[in-house]
Amino acid sequence: MSECIFCDIIHGKIPCAKVYETKNTLAFLDIAPVNKGHTLVIPKKHYPTLFDLPSELGKELLEVMQKVGEALRKTVQAEGINLGMNNFKPAGQLVFHAHFHIIPRYENDGLSLWPQKKYNNNDEMLALAQKLANNI
Ligand code: AMP
Ligand code: ZN
Repeated sequence: MSECIFCDIIHGKIPCAKVYETKNTLAFLDIAPVNKGHTLVIPKKHYPTLFDLPSELGKELLEVMQKVGEALRKTVQAEGINLGMNNFKPAGQLVFHAHFHIIPRYENDGLSLWPQKKYNNNDEMLALAQKLANNI
């Protein structure tokens, strides 16, 4: 066993319920699904978070996520699809091998998005947008 459970899956050391693979990516079912069919899409190489992923992989990852999402609509009659990625512990990342969650959703499935806060006023919001822009 290596230190990374997803690398172990890639190398066939532990099993997974494989859905699809490409040269550089693997898609398999999440063992503890939010809804049945919840699929993880991962790069075959080990990169800990979004910020370590080479941007050249983006096209292939996006295509796989689209294919999996379409298959979920056909297979488990998903009425909606959430795409999610947790980066770093405070955001809920448990496995430090970058991965995307493709989650089938249904009307009235009991889940809701995160609670939303407010800016004090529009100026505060615009000033923050400008600060962010300055850091890009
Ligand atoms: P995250 O919290 O974003 O790091 O998500 C890690 C996900 O990996 C969780 O949703 C787990 O249920 C899932 N997971 C952990 N181990 C396995 C495994 N062996 N096979 C499939 N999914 C797994
Ligand atoms: Zn890994």
